[in-house]
Amino acid sequence: MRVVPIPLRNAFDHVNYLLVCDAAKVAIAVDPYDVERVAGEATAQGVTITSVVNTHEHWDHAGKNAEMKARTGAAVMAPRAAAGTLEGLDRLLVDGDMISVGADSVTVRAVPGHTMASIAIFGEEEGGIPFVISGDTLFGAGVGNCGYGGHAPTLQETISGVFASLADETRVYPGHDYLKRNLAFTLSIEPGNAAACALASALESTDGTAPHFTTIGEERAINLFLRTGSHEVRTNLELPAPANDSDVFLAIRKRRDHW
Ligand SMILES: [Zn+2]
Repeated sequence: MRVVPIPLRNAFDHVNYLLVCDAAKVAIAVDPYDVERVAGEATAQGVTITSVVNTHEHWDHAGKNAEMKARTGAAVMAPRAAAGTLEGLDRLLVDGDMISVGADSVTVRAVPGHTMASIAIFGEEEGGIPFVISGDTLFGAGVGNCGYGGHAPTLQETISGVFASLADETRVYPGHDYLKRNLAFTLSIEPGNAAACALASALESTDGTAPHFTTIGEERAINLFLRTGSHEVRTNLELPAPANDSDVFLAIRKRRDHW
């Protein structure tokens, strides 16, 4: 399978995706926000969009379903837990479901926390490289907020239970490109983080048109929410001892809300 990121460079820094099966010339469109751009990219790639998949129910991920369906005739799929919020769904997705795209397929996993309905999509790129389309659950050097239907302790369980156990080489494709700002947040709490520092300066020297997509291995080095055991992080958060990993995660989430 081929992952085609479509960075919108709009006010929300959305990244839309096509998951392409080249053999069958078909694709899944994930969280299409700019219908013109996504449909245009499918045409440019020579593929037909047969499915639209929403990672969660927020309007900036699922609000263009009807427009996409009218334009492409694609089947619209979203998490079952979001069915009360979204209309016109053709298939309701639950943990463990598989979605076919031509000769390829991807797997759905429940990743509640940013919203309680959130899912992530797992697959393999050419060469057997694993990837995850993480929606608003895991970002480059960050995680989703919990202020719009989410629950921070549940997000902590999802990050430590699902994402922290992924292989280092897993590529992370998030719903927004917040990497630059998130790295600045990392360095505000962990200024001695050499990997975050190096990546932040590398990004300064690019023109920013193509997002840098991280791997889980990189995230372990630069994402505070996966670094709750770091001595520097714990010291700078000034938590009352003894704090467990969950306490540290929640303190970082709170700090990021007001940062
Ligand atoms: Zn969202």
